[in-house]
Amino acid sequence: MDFAQLGLGDELLKAIAEIGYTTPTPIQEKAIPIVLMARDLIGLAQTGTGKTASFTLPMIEMLSSGRARSRMPRSLVLAPTRELAAQVAENFDKYGKYHKLTKALLVGGESMGDQIKILEKGADVLIATPGRLLDLFDRGQILLSDIKILVIDEADRMLDMGFIPDIEKIITFIPMTRQTLLFSATMQPEIKNLADKFLSNPKSVSVAPPASPAATVDHRMIEVAPKDKKYVLRDLIQRENIKNAFVFCNRKRDVDMLGKWLSDKGFSAAALHGDMVQSKRTETLQSFKDGKISLMVCSDVAARGLDVSGVSHVFNYDVPFNADDYVHRIGRTGRAGQSGKAWTLATADDEKLVAAIVKLVGRDIPTEKAATASEGAEAPSKPARSEKTRKSSRSDRSESHSREDKSSEPKLVTVKRSSRPEPSGRRYPVLPDDEGDKFHEDNMPAFLRK
Ligand code: AMP
Repeated sequence: MDFAQLGLGDELLKAIAEIGYTTPTPIQEKAIPIVLMARDLIGLAQTGTGKTASFTLPMIEMLSSGRARSRMPRSLVLAPTRELAAQVAENFDKYGKYHKLTKALLVGGESMGDQIKILEKGADVLIATPGRLLDLFDRGQILLSDIKILVIDEADRMLDMGFIPDIEKIITFIPMTRQTLLFSATMQPEIKNLADKFLSNPKSVSVAPPASPAATVDHRMIEVAPKDKKYVLRDLIQRENIKNAFVFCNRKRDVDMLGKWLSDKGFSAAALHGDMVQSKRTETLQSFKDGKISLMVCSDVAARGLDVSGVSHVFNYDVPFNADDYVHRIGRTGRAGQSGKAWTLATADDEKLVAAIVKLVGRDIPTEKAATASEGAEAPSKPARSEKTRKSSRSDRSESHSREDKSSEPKLVTVKRSSRPEPSGRRYPVLPDDEGDKFHEDNMPAFLRK
């Protein structure tokens, strides 16, 4: 099957060919013809499957005839985070390069005045996070009565972030005669209710079993004492052949601490979390995408669903509180058919969280035990190391070499571990806001509190 058989027009086919896509992904093959028939759709697909193009491509085709009026957009895509909304917007730019469609990206942390100006000119496509959209709606800056296509992207993340009431509210402002597309990696009862309530005779397509990690990701765990975590992480970074990596922490203060510590140790690392100003978030992400930063230390909310191609590794500095987040985190690597590797540092206190993950992914995860790590010395020169430190520390490297040689030896010995799943998985939702990673601290399970 090729794109031409899916019913897309010549301008889109030209843009797709220029990007270099040769064949549609399974979700595109299944979803695009249904969307072009103006049917409602439930798409069960994770990020990394090409699902964004599976709705943006047919939307561009369908919106290509017609024009938007001032403050009356013709289509709306709701995304859970600013970064995901920005990613959808990039997709519209990329695929819509031979169309004259206008779009508005409405996310928090950016100037409302600028967004209002764009709305005034008229936008064919509105891409928004629920909070900012409701803000603008409540201020009378936007009318949703001309919306013909509504997309709810990453519905499971919306649920986790407490956005479902906002979405229900937004839908009441949109005409009943519309086409609705809902995408989710999993189909919890709340999502099914949402679909039953707001979709009309939808077609369902599914491309991967819910919450299963991509087969291209080799994911492993390492048992570690809490005090050794930093050093074990450093050793793993050194021993793996890393091009670039996401390093996930559960708490924002650890994101800051670890980003700084890795930078101080000479790694090319930066932090990304929801408390940072949006301009800094955008800049950091761009530096990572451009290869100027190799290690992106981040929180779940800030990095959720980010599409950065060719990420070689994921490190979970903390076991995520929510088992679904495990699948999302490790899915940042092994994308587009490439192989990837993920390591999770687990302490004895994490046993229940690990059991919930094992239950969710449906199989044991190979687990090693870290020998007691010591502070040791810094990383040897590796791609993950920053150029600045590589230059500046050349002279003092010989001094630390004897220690470094010992400490950078792999200290990890394999032990068999039987991970018995818990009878029922625990879920820890996050706050209904993009800054929601605060929640992880406030609602930390009691057994994890100090
Ligand atoms: P998504 O699941 O939408 O986050 O997309 C994952 C990645 O797949 C993105 O980097 C897309 O650019 C890429 N992609 C989407 N469709 C195709 C395709 N047909 N062939 C190759 N890559 C694709």
